[in-house]
Amino acid sequence: MASKGYKCASCSKQIRENSSSLSCVNCKNWFHKKCSDLSDEKFKKIAAAPKKKGQTNWRCSGCLSEVSIVESDDEDGMDVDVSSSPTNEIFLLQMKQLFEKYLAPFREKVDKIESNIASIKSELSKNTEQNKINTENYRKLEKRVKIAEEGSSDRTTKSAS
Ligand SMILES: [Zn+2]
Ligand SMILES: [Zn+2]
Repeated sequence: MASKGYKCASCSKQIRENSSSLSCVNCKNWFHKKCSDLSDEKFKKIAAAPKKKGQTNWRCSGCLSEVSIVESDDEDGMDVDVSSSPTNEIFLLQMKQLFEKYLAPFREKVDKIESNIASIKSELSKNTEQNKINTENYRKLEKRVKIAEEGSSDRTTKSAS
């Protein structure tokens, strides 16, 4: 795994190219498998895990202790912050900012859709007006036809009787 020139960060000896070794994802130092305190099984799992730019997701013992210290600090800080109201306000503000960040482009889309709907509505109302005129014209025509028919039927009934 390691290329030539890497030295084990644990024992300071050169890591040979085809020897079992792995690099810490945090400090980028290389370690012999035997210096990493990993069992064969764990080493295999880590070596087979998805790699980014040739790195594993493994952290050396030094970085693990670093991380655990940072994490415990965070937890302590959280416990204090959650009970105090300023953090809640900050949290609400952050939520608001998040909402605005994600809703802003959505709102633009909604605006666009609404303007589209408005134009469609005006288009429809134009059509409805045209339809009304058409219907009126049709009814007028229908009346004329009826009058004409009644007139002719009157004449026919009159002439028949
Ligand atoms: Zn070593
Ligand atoms: Zn490390």
